[in-house]
Amino acid sequence: MSVGTYAAREEIIRKAEKAISKADAELTAAIESGDEVKIKDAAQKAFGTHQWADQTINILKGCECGCIYCFAAARAYRFHEKEPGQWTIEILNENQFNKKVSNKACLTMFPSTHNISPNEHLPECEQKIQEILNTGSRILIVLKPWKSVVESICTKFEAYKEQIIFRFTIGSADNATLKFWEPGAPSYDERLEALRYAFEHGFSTSISCEPFLDNNIDQVIADTRAFVSDSIWVGTMNQGRARIKVNGHWTPEVEAKYNELMGWYSEENIRTLYERYKDDSLIRWKESIAKVVGVKSDCATD
Ligand code: SF4
Repeated sequence: MSVGTYAAREEIIRKAEKAISKADAELTAAIESGDEVKIKDAAQKAFGTHQWADQTINILKGCECGCIYCFAAARAYRFHEKEPGQWTIEILNENQFNKKVSNKACLTMFPSTHNISPNEHLPECEQKIQEILNTGSRILIVLKPWKSVVESICTKFEAYKEQIIFRFTIGSADNATLKFWEPGAPSYDERLEALRYAFEHGFSTSISCEPFLDNNIDQVIADTRAFVSDSIWVGTMNQGRARIKVNGHWTPEVEAKYNELMGWYSEENIRTLYERYKDDSLIRWKESIAKVVGVKSDCATD
């Protein structure tokens, strides 16, 4: 499939993201079953490099953002790849870093199980971005963005901007809410500034409001839409309770916040949200919402 058109690119992204969601749901079900063979099979599908129509690449183990609902952290703890409480310590995965990038993909997602922070691993991440771009693949760079990181990527890869799509995750416009769920991630203002920088420098930009973390995602949509050239994806938190527990964050305070969030995810609220934006060409619905309102999902990432 040619990736030259918007529709072709969207289709590639949709298929890749649907594959991620399916594999992740299978892994969660396998973990809940406790069957080690099923867990290993599902994990290979969910985290192997050949799981998608295209490919996903990660070079770090751990993520400074420390989102308490993180699926990658839950997986790492489950498979003893990280000691309890160590997820926020980022370690270079030498094998993945040194692995040659396939030249067969037309769209590569990087990263998907870590962020890119301005700290020690930015050079390695940029090296991997360069390697991906050198293959001719488009790259979907998914971040909770630090402005300095986005500035650096935009500057270094200015000549490759047609190959690059940014997707910035912003689940709330409220800094206290972001801090609660994503304690090491950039603030709301930082993410907005990063978005604005990429947009104003001519890069393709999109937003992921998944998971949205409060009952005012309208604010994020309103604040970001002027700087989004591509799309804004909206979805709920998946398997949050199980993941938060595995990640060691399940306290009475978190339980209360989680229950509050689940209240905001009520069918009535989801339907109202959908009605508000269903004719908005910028908004795309993740499977978590599409299945509630009974429409075909635009996309289905975790
Ligand atoms: S940014 Fe992504 S990978 Fe990092 S902790 Fe948050 S959810 Fe996990």
